[in-house]
Amino acid sequence: MLTESRSAPAGDPARTAAAPPAARARLDAGVRLGALVVLWAGLLLVAYWWAAGGGVSDLGSWADGLTSSGRLTGLLASVLLLVQVLLMARVPLLEHAVGQDRLARVHRLVGFTSFTLMQAHIGLVTWGYAAGELSATPGELWDLTVTYPGMLLAAAGTGCLVMVVVTSVQAARRRLRYESWHLLHLYGYLGVGLALPHQLWTGQDFLASPARTVFWWGLYAVTAASVLVWRVALPLVRSARYGVRVGSVVPEADGVVSVELTTRRPMPVEAGQWLSFRFLAGAGWTRAHPYSLSAAPGPHGLRITVQVVGDGSAAVRGLRPGTRVLVEGPYGRLSARARTRRRVALIGAGVGVTPLRALAEGLDYAPGEAVLLHRYSGPPLFRREFEVLVAQRGLQVLWLPGHRRAPGSWLGDGVGAASDLAALTWWVPDIADRDVYVCGPQQWADDVRRTTAAAGVPADRFHVESFGW
Ligand SMILES: Cc1cc2nc3c(=O)[nH]c(=O)nc-3n(C[C@H](O)[C@H](O)[C@H](O)COP(=O)(O)OP(=O)(O)OC[C@H]3O[C@@H](n4cnc5c(N)ncnc54)[C@H](O)[C@@H]3O)c2cc1C
Repeated sequence: MLTESRSAPAGDPARTAAAPPAARARLDAGVRLGALVVLWAGLLLVAYWWAAGGGVSDLGSWADGLTSSGRLTGLLASVLLLVQVLLMARVPLLEHAVGQDRLARVHRLVGFTSFTLMQAHIGLVTWGYAAGELSATPGELWDLTVTYPGMLLAAAGTGCLVMVVVTSVQAARRRLRYESWHLLHLYGYLGVGLALPHQLWTGQDFLASPARTVFWWGLYAVTAASVLVWRVALPLVRSARYGVRVGSVVPEADGVVSVELTTRRPMPVEAGQWLSFRFLAGAGWTRAHPYSLSAAPGPHGLRITVQVVGDGSAAVRGLRPGTRVLVEGPYGRLSARARTRRRVALIGAGVGVTPLRALAEGLDYAPGEAVLLHRYSGPPLFRREFEVLVAQRGLQVLWLPGHRRAPGSWLGDGVGAASDLAALTWWVPDIADRDVYVCGPQQWADDVRRTTAAAGVPADRFHVESFGW
């Protein structure tokens, strides 16, 4: 770790993470492709079983056709429901290959798709059972719910999923406190569990052959085991193994502190990654908060830098040395793992510069190969530390002061009137040939993405982590 009292690593290869070996990049690409293939194979397999079970021939009559289409949408919804849980189960292979930021976006897309198919399933099956009479459908829905086995549980499960989806729509989500939204979101697990019995007791497609039974039970078992192993057991084991404790809390700027953490042994974490932290110092420990490393990890220490925005981050200021810490992670691909080029551009806003500060120390680069664009409105974070990296590692730094100058612009009003694209290509003429690492608020990061894409940076060289919705 580089701190004020210590000198910069000056490119010491033993202390800096090398560019990812080709094997690691190939493995990640293979996992991404494999995950897509497995997903589509699963969807095609249940569609095939549906067709083989008379699904297509049933389409010949109106009422049977409705029920049959409803069965298909229900089967696809079930696969996607479990896939969306798997996507957020922190499966290490997926985490490394895709990154948490992108996984969360895919989870959202898969979740809304699954929910839409589930609504179609309920509507179409009920309509079909009502002999295709639209006016008889509400009564049929009631009968199905109260008479068929597992249907009351499924109705309760649907209620949970409706709540999760409604509170995840952007407009509703913005109005909720993060903790409230997250608590409601956990009801999704209950919703998935409550839907299972009706699938087993009334869903012919689930039990029609041993292969189908193995497939569905296997999918449920793998999903449940992934959540238990990677979201519950592994964090507990890791926290016990590495014995993370607060070493000291150091003020960085107004409302910003750095926390030096000690570990019993070196943690397998890279500069640019983040972990979820629970500080065991009082009532707030039940809520985990994600923070990025703000310095390259050392053999017995990590550092995070926290801006006070609410209760959880405010409590960090009062942490005492020795406080025990439960950690989940590390997560994220904003690290050397994603790198494909020698030259890199690091672009950060405000406290979003923290993982870039760690990368500027941890990445392997020669003088001139790494440039940092740091936008800030108050005093810039880590100014002295960046100056040390400039002097010792040849990091180039562009200080971009000011508040955002206009909607859609990611630059501050202290940098003149040139367009974002003209300014970026003037400052970093070879931007199209660099890996670009970006961290800041979601909307700001999207604006940076637009400019770098216009400057010729392809999507697979744009690596982003955003701190908020
Ligand atoms: C991957 C990632 C890395 C981050 N790294 C840093 C960092 O290095 N330094 C830093 O100062 N901040 C970082 N943040 C933001 C930080 O997690 C939140 O500011 C903090 O959790 C706020 O909690 P609070 O109780 O103080 O505020 P609240 O008032 O509870 O929340 C304020 C906002 O913070 C976000 N937030 C709150 N809790 C969580 C949570 N558990 N998970 C995700 N987002 C949450 C929400 O957008 C919320 O609206 C990071 C966020 C993410 C997602």
